[in-house]
Amino acid sequence: MTTSKDCQTGSEQDLIRRRAQLLGPELSLSYENPLHLVRGEDVWLYDADGRAYLDAYNNVAHVGHCHADVVAAIARQAARLNTNTRYLHETVLDLSEFLTAKLPSGLDVCFFVNSGSEANDIAWQMAKAFSGNTGVLVLDEAYHGISEATFAMSPSEYDAANQPGHVETLESPDSYRGRLRGNSAEVGIGYTESCDQALAALAQRGHAPAALIIDSGTSSSGILDLPDGYLPAVVEKVRTAGGLYIADEVQVGLGRSGSHFWGFEAFGVKPDIVTIGKPVGNGHPIGIAVTSREILAKFNAHVPFFSTFGGNPVSAAAGLEVLKVIDRQNLQDNARETSAYLKQGIKDLAERETLIGDVRGSGLLIGIDLVLDRETREPAGEAANQIFNYMRNNGVLIGTAGPHGNVLKIRPPMTFSKTHADQLITTLADALNAIR
Ligand code: PMP
Repeated sequence: MTTSKDCQTGSEQDLIRRRAQLLGPELSLSYENPLHLVRGEDVWLYDADGRAYLDAYNNVAHVGHCHADVVAAIARQAARLNTNTRYLHETVLDLSEFLTAKLPSGLDVCFFVNSGSEANDIAWQMAKAFSGNTGVLVLDEAYHGISEATFAMSPSEYDAANQPGHVETLESPDSYRGRLRGNSAEVGIGYTESCDQALAALAQRGHAPAALIIDSGTSSSGILDLPDGYLPAVVEKVRTAGGLYIADEVQVGLGRSGSHFWGFEAFGVKPDIVTIGKPVGNGHPIGIAVTSREILAKFNAHVPFFSTFGGNPVSAAAGLEVLKVIDRQNLQDNARETSAYLKQGIKDLAERETLIGDVRGSGLLIGIDLVLDRETREPAGEAANQIFNYMRNNGVLIGTAGPHGNVLKIRPPMTFSKTHADQLITTLADALNAIR
């Protein structure tokens, strides 16, 4: 096998060395052979040698890399004015109207910040202010951000021994590999027992819940198919104990789930706060927390909210154009249709490839759970890593996810088509062959 060093040019090795020196060696790079990307267009990324890669991983470029209309909107506004939200400006209001029209009624006030972490951080502050409580419930393996408060809500990033006292984790409702299996209401309710235990544990440490925060795509947990009835039941328990439900839509919002515009809609429960990040700026940094007037009132009484860059006219122009493009190009429908085609193709492959244990997810967020044995469902993390690197070396970018790193993660720009799906399936079939 060729090593990563064999494939790197002198200038790439130099970049790797400078990067480690200047950004710190802990900031990891994707792939054994890191990519030096210089250009993007729609679902394609190009490296410094002009080689094209099919991007089946990056949800930040939600409507496609460097979408001409989004680029034009940013450039137009940047050439005219960029300032902060202490002045009157239409665009941030147009964006808020567009966004809240897509949300259930009652979720109608927007807080603009600059990242998903900040949106979750603000949501957390709102939940504490509104409830008067201090505890938080998160899924095992969740990821919600890098600020101190949101890192605490990200058990995927630290050992259980380091879990702060105000945090409790809920057992992953993994209907494929978890304690209870199968997607029935019984299983769903079975997993909610963990919520009772978590609330009791919080209470013992002197915390009532301020919030339950759930990534609607359960992406870092391995893209789970949540069992029927699970989320509404857990939300009810948390609300009864005085906490709010924060839907983290950073991964799956804006039509990605295909069936709905928001991931939480599939669960039939309305959140108290919705947080939005990466996809909404198509690469331009924007974070948004949307909530109700009631929560706003209590929050404002505690925190005088203002973010210098949040909601600036250039960011607002980017976000507004992204939302318009999603509608204009019917990207939610495309996510649904391409997903059905892609999932079927992977399931066909699974008929002869026993490494594929499960194919799940909704719309253009798909997880392929690789197993060493279909009976025991033992995770095949090393195989996933080999496939991830093989596909990169053969021009298709995917990711890996889940606590065992054995879930191939497919989360492309929303313009991903059936032709692109064909290329992904062919390369995946080759990869499965190659690693045998
Ligand atoms: N929530 C979820 C579900 C995420 O996936 C991420 C980023 N991966 C975040 C929050 C944090 O977003 P950001 O990196 O923009 O701060």
